[in-house]
Amino acid sequence: MENKKKLTNAAGIPYYYHEDSQTVGHRGPVLLQDFMLQENLAHFVRERIPERVVHAKGSGAYGKFTVTGDIRKYTRAKLFSKIGNECRIFARFSSVAGEKGSADTERDPRGFALKFYTEDGNWDLVGNNTPVFFIKDAKKFPDFIHTQKRLPRTNLKDHTVMWDYWSLNPESLHQVLILMSDRGTPYGYRHMNGYGSHTFAMINDQNERSWVKFHFKTQQGIKNFTLEESIEMKGVNPDFSQEDLVNAIDKGEFPKWTMQIQVMTEEQAKNFRWNPFDVTKIWPHEDFELIDVGILELNEIPINYFAHVEQSTFAPSNLIDGISFSPDKMLQGRLFSYADAHRYRVGVNAHQLPVNACPYEVNNYQRDGYMRMGANSGDSPNYYPNSFDNIEAEQDYKPFEEELNSAHVAYFNRNEDDNDHYTQPGILYAKVMDDEQKTHLVHNIVEHMKGIKGEKKDLIINRQLCHFFRANIDLGIRIAKGLGVTIDSNQMQHSIQ
Ligand code: NDP
Repeated sequence: MENKKKLTNAAGIPYYYHEDSQTVGHRGPVLLQDFMLQENLAHFVRERIPERVVHAKGSGAYGKFTVTGDIRKYTRAKLFSKIGNECRIFARFSSVAGEKGSADTERDPRGFALKFYTEDGNWDLVGNNTPVFFIKDAKKFPDFIHTQKRLPRTNLKDHTVMWDYWSLNPESLHQVLILMSDRGTPYGYRHMNGYGSHTFAMINDQNERSWVKFHFKTQQGIKNFTLEESIEMKGVNPDFSQEDLVNAIDKGEFPKWTMQIQVMTEEQAKNFRWNPFDVTKIWPHEDFELIDVGILELNEIPINYFAHVEQSTFAPSNLIDGISFSPDKMLQGRLFSYADAHRYRVGVNAHQLPVNACPYEVNNYQRDGYMRMGANSGDSPNYYPNSFDNIEAEQDYKPFEEELNSAHVAYFNRNEDDNDHYTQPGILYAKVMDDEQKTHLVHNIVEHMKGIKGEKKDLIINRQLCHFFRANIDLGIRIAKGLGVTIDSNQMQHSIQ
């Protein structure tokens, strides 16, 4: 054979017996000196890195983002400086609660994580397929996620603890309704919308700030599994979403999303009925129109899943000049915990791996650490300031200067509308969902709540029913009926006040 390649070990040393171990005589015990046996077995048992605690099962693809709308009045980010600008992107979609081998069609929100390789640096927008989230404070996150995972003793997922937690945290209601609608079981990743979910900031070249929400509308159209179809697909093809994405891209049917933003001025934010930084709320389209910004296209399945998808690291703290964060408490917690998770899961030099690396210049004084690749900045100085290199922090750069107007340390927001967990879920049910969507929603909730068991069953069901009633009486009645709960209208009236 032409261009024959030599079989070597990891150190490049040629060896000859890949399948046969060295033994004492033909039938004797194996010799410890067979270093290739040791090397192969030792590497094999180290093939797994820790799986992500959340979003463990995922699919990824490269693609491009093209700017189609002029938003320079909101942002000075170079990416948005001209219509027609393009940049390479990497997207990773995922389910949230299941382990790496779990079924793709589980009822769950879906991660919608994007990395834009821009000339200002890598910008990560780490969102979901829903515009809201279950909780509005990152301090609650570990406890909430525990309720979505396996019980300590039985090692089983458990609907009792899920509804116990949701019913004790009514801020979850909006997300719970979306999760329980058929959008909780999307038909793969191509047929769902993506949302930045949090409120972000954009800063323009006048150093003016606007608040922004990001939306990615699927151009493939929304398509979902019904409850029964999603359960069936778990058995037929647990990797449905991965296969659907790979097949579509390999066939040249590149999935696309339209990127849109909603913009709120600082003045509007002060007068908005709800807290504009509360991730359990949306901004109504009627009040904050969707502005077209660009097209996202996925067109390349990475050549190696582990190298690119498993080792990809997205962090909401990867924000570029012209795009910034807001005081959203969930976002503020994520600014810390995503980068922290990657340092644990992939290592302190994760940003050097090809999928995570910035393709433009990177200059700083970080050195060493596990798995440092490349020249480790060679013999250039590893301290700043110094008299030897020509790396400079731009002197005339004008950062946006935040004015903080309180010296008061707060834990709770006592504004009444901040605890209005019902109006928006009520609108979703009454005004957005058609009859069929309502019927599916009720059916999905009833079937899910039938999994509530044990001595606290009635307490949990009644507590959650009160939340449904407060969002919409018809919704509450239909779910109560489905669960066979008799409603004492006086008592219900009392409890929803
Ligand atoms: P609009 O009528 O202008 O928009 C309704 C939105 O709801 C559309 O974006 C639609 O997405 C989406 N939608 C439809 N069915 C579902 C579902 N089962 N689960 C989640 N989203 C769904 O209404 P408003 O802007 O006044 O918002 C009303 C309610 O709509 C909100 O309380 C919220 O629950 C929901 N919503 C609002 C969004 C927003 O940013 N304003 C975003 C998503 C949902 P599509 O256009 O793709 O069909």
